[in-house]
Amino acid sequence: MRPDAIGIWSGKVLEKLRWYYEVMNGWKPAKYLICKKVGLSDSGLDGYSFEELIGIHNELSYKFRNMFSSIRDGKLSLTDFNNLENPRVTYLDVKVKLIGDVLRSCYLCEWRCGVNRYESRGSMCRLGLETYVSSYFLHVGEEAPLIPSGTIFYGSCNFRCVFCQNYEISQLRPYDGVKVNAKELALIQKHLHREGAININHVGGEPTPNLLTILESLKYLDVNIPQLWNSNMYMSAETLNILMDVIDIWLPDFKYGNNTCGLRLSKVRDYFDVVSRNHIAICSAGDPIIIRHLVLPNHVECCTKPILEWIAKHCSNALVNVMAQYRPEYLVITCREEYRDIGRGPTSKEMEEAYEYARKLGISFEEVS
Ligand code: SF4
Repeated sequence: MRPDAIGIWSGKVLEKLRWYYEVMNGWKPAKYLICKKVGLSDSGLDGYSFEELIGIHNELSYKFRNMFSSIRDGKLSLTDFNNLENPRVTYLDVKVKLIGDVLRSCYLCEWRCGVNRYESRGSMCRLGLETYVSSYFLHVGEEAPLIPSGTIFYGSCNFRCVFCQNYEISQLRPYDGVKVNAKELALIQKHLHREGAININHVGGEPTPNLLTILESLKYLDVNIPQLWNSNMYMSAETLNILMDVIDIWLPDFKYGNNTCGLRLSKVRDYFDVVSRNHIAICSAGDPIIIRHLVLPNHVECCTKPILEWIAKHCSNALVNVMAQYRPEYLVITCREEYRDIGRGPTSKEMEEAYEYARKLGISFEEVS
């Protein structure tokens, strides 16, 4: 265990990540467990149209919020929560059913391919219904409040970052991992919990295209452990709405301060519009969040500064990891001329400029950077 992982729990960090901290310590139930206590007395969900299911989801979301507030504010104890009756059909079941329906004409992410993933594969994620796990282990290199983190690396990604460090599993060989179903994924999570993980860290590649398996795995999971979403945040607004009440702590990447750099370096359209929209949804819900921003060389003015300004304005409750570890990888090395601007690591002058700007804006970054 890194010593900073123990000393980190005070002041701003504790204040901003309180829900996650209390779940991590077993004092409160993880949100996915609350989702399993909220539900309907119906015997199943067959026969409901998609629109009717959305209506049920909204209704249960309201019930979830009430129960969540009671637990968070100490009005409902863990013992009383555990003694609550288990509904026949849960809020989690409704989420699984909705995501299963979204996959029939997939718009899990903003590519909105419209592919029926029961029959074929997504054009960017290249996944059908299958989920591949490249590796899973206790990660001790994450931010201090997160370690040891039970990290699960899923194959495939919906981005094509030219500097991707995980390009082998995300872009070149997304099917190289072990194919898992929901029950097997739950077993992996139980194993990580037994080994001492303090959270389950869903990452990739990108976890979003694997959402059906991930949500379904929670039906078979019964250990109290925070769920952490480590993502590029390019999911659709509809997907985020379904995922919202399941995740205890968010670990999003916020890479580019505009759409143009997103298109050039990750090959995605409307990058800033989509990712900032999703950050707003999370931050306005008051969820624990650590935003990661990787400082790219020569992108301090166009990306780092606008992102920091945006965070200060819209996500002041976030902790921010201003990251210095960018190194040229993958296409930046093979297409050296095309990506010359990011052909080196950030200089100490660039990093100091980024830190100074964050400091000036009053952003909480020193604790996790
Ligand atoms: S997850 Fe995204 S990239 Fe994959 S099929 Fe769905 S919309 Fe397309």
